[in-house]
Amino acid sequence: MSQALHPNITAADSAFLQTINDTEHFRHYDDEARDGVKDLYRENHVNQTLDFVLAQKAKYGKLDKLEMGIWDALEKMNEFVDNSDPDLALPQIVHALQTAEAIRMDGHPRWFILAGLIHDLGKVLTLFGEPQWAIVGDTYPVGCPFSDKIVYSELFADNPDSKNPAYQTANGIYEAGCGLDNVHLSWGHDEYLYMVTKDYLPKEAQWMLRYHSCYPIHREGAYQHLLNEQDEETLKWVRAFNPYDLYSKCETLPNVEELKPFYQELIAEFFPAKIKW
Ligand code: FE
Ligand code: FE
Repeated sequence: MSQALHPNITAADSAFLQTINDTEHFRHYDDEARDGVKDLYRENHVNQTLDFVLAQKAKYGKLDKLEMGIWDALEKMNEFVDNSDPDLALPQIVHALQTAEAIRMDGHPRWFILAGLIHDLGKVLTLFGEPQWAIVGDTYPVGCPFSDKIVYSELFADNPDSKNPAYQTANGIYEAGCGLDNVHLSWGHDEYLYMVTKDYLPKEAQWMLRYHSCYPIHREGAYQHLLNEQDEETLKWVRAFNPYDLYSKCETLPNVEELKPFYQELIAEFFPAKIKW
């Protein structure tokens, strides 16, 4: 699968990144963060326990909630605004198309463009009544100590797992070097969409979808002791994806109707008309 494409994209070889003049402007959680971002993270950090994550994986892993096509899911997301995002208050279909178009601009393979289009579709969890704290926000390992590299890490003081001695040893429930695929991350749209789409996509795309919100690991370099050799490759692809997700957010709206034929064809190349959610 496209092994020739080196995934480390720098501003110098990305036409897209050269259109961005101020990357420092994104992901600021301090005084200027949008109202509600910290409140969202408070709920997230208090409630994301290992037990909660395992229960959600069991519940949604059955994929017995509904059958729906990818484009239908995108349209359903039209009204959803992510309260954890300090950078953008636009509907998700806009973010999906902005991300995919930025990847397309850089001439990446079609599966990579598709990954951009669908990467946040796990937010359809909102259709099943899940609260935002169980859908959005950065993800992080559970079942082991919470790293201070996680955004608003002080809010974990009220998470019951912080007081569970079994989870507070250096590796918690894991073995050193067990690898990212064997670590339970906090539950949200990443893991859910990975479950829904994994049978249809190349593994590089699966990594991008499954780990794109795990900033403590892919950006901050935390939890190195749990990673293995494979994860170097895995995280390369996650990091290659990240700038398109983060820096394509802008107030200029894509023309959905104009782009629809291209993306419907792309979706049909990889997915059947309907998939299980
Ligand atoms: Fe996301
Ligand atoms: Fe996104």
